[in-house]
Amino acid sequence: MNAIRKAYRRNKIRGCLLGGAIGDALGYAIEFDSEPRIFARYGEDGITEYKLDPYSGKALISDDTQMTLFTAYGLMAGDYHRRLKGERVVPREYVTLAYLDWYRTQTMSFRKGNRLPSHIHGGESVLLNAPELYSRRAPGNTCMNSLSRLVDEAERRPDYISRPMNSSKGCGSVMRVAPVGLNFEFLDIREVDLEAAQTGAITHGHPLGYMPCAVLAHIIHRLLFNERSMTLREIVLEARDTAAGLFAGNEYLPTLTALIDLAVELAETEGTEDLDNIHRLGEGWVADEALAISIYCALRHQDDFSAGIIASVNHKGDSDSTGAITGNILGALLGEGNIESKWTKDLELRDVIISIADDMVNNLEEEAFGR
Ligand SMILES: [Mg+2]
Repeated sequence: MNAIRKAYRRNKIRGCLLGGAIGDALGYAIEFDSEPRIFARYGEDGITEYKLDPYSGKALISDDTQMTLFTAYGLMAGDYHRRLKGERVVPREYVTLAYLDWYRTQTMSFRKGNRLPSHIHGGESVLLNAPELYSRRAPGNTCMNSLSRLVDEAERRPDYISRPMNSSKGCGSVMRVAPVGLNFEFLDIREVDLEAAQTGAITHGHPLGYMPCAVLAHIIHRLLFNERSMTLREIVLEARDTAAGLFAGNEYLPTLTALIDLAVELAETEGTEDLDNIHRLGEGWVADEALAISIYCALRHQDDFSAGIIASVNHKGDSDSTGAITGNILGALLGEGNIESKWTKDLELRDVIISIADDMVNNLEEEAFGR
């Protein structure tokens, strides 16, 4: 029984992380391109296969995937310390340290033999020692600025929501938080959602920056620990309602819930085009729009991973982030086994992504054993 459960989880967690990286890599090639340029260059269907990097022969991932891996790493480090010490830990403190590790990859160059100890526990980090991660792939200014301040701040901020770093609602928050939904099997789902919001708020202090993180983590958590066999539509609506309860009274909440409702409605409106529907949801540079576009694409193409990520990137907005979030959702829904191998074959950092996914699977087993 345990072996079956483990294989099921491996399929879903690998699906979520690989799916996000695939959407990121497909969209990264056209992140800053206009629609006329995309359709002139790639044809009327837009970009439908990777544009490979001529130097490495790989489909390059961007900051979305880099930071997602560091989120996962930070969460697992927190769990490890809690098991080791037998004390409560605040997960986002470990994720903050992991993000400071990511920040170093963006501000230092990798030198062979110069193995860096991680901020988290002083030991070596598998991520800090992957040379490919020391590439700047259009990292978001908000993330870089917030982390540069946290490097210098002796005091950590365990509550990033009540002591916001800034008033940014960019999508750099939600593009990286999917692992929060994968990690906490035994927590009340509302705590998972809040932890995801706090994780987003490490760098993005506007409610429309961090509230969408709660919704995404809720969806991902239900897709992995879905004892009730809910449909994706039911999960999305439950995630919306849970966020509405958690953030009741927030002046920006109606903006978020209305956008989620519109995404669900558009996904069910027959005879409409993906691009027209995406235009009605926004461009995805801000977190609520990126989430809504991704929910729309995942619902509309819930049986077909490839169709979903292709729809999610072919627009003038933030293609790599909408691709990444859509890929997280569809990958967790459908599993690694339903992702065509052409997407993983040339994916940069594929082995690192798989090894972090499998670490997350094993971490869940450890957590279960420790209870
Ligand atoms: Mg990016």
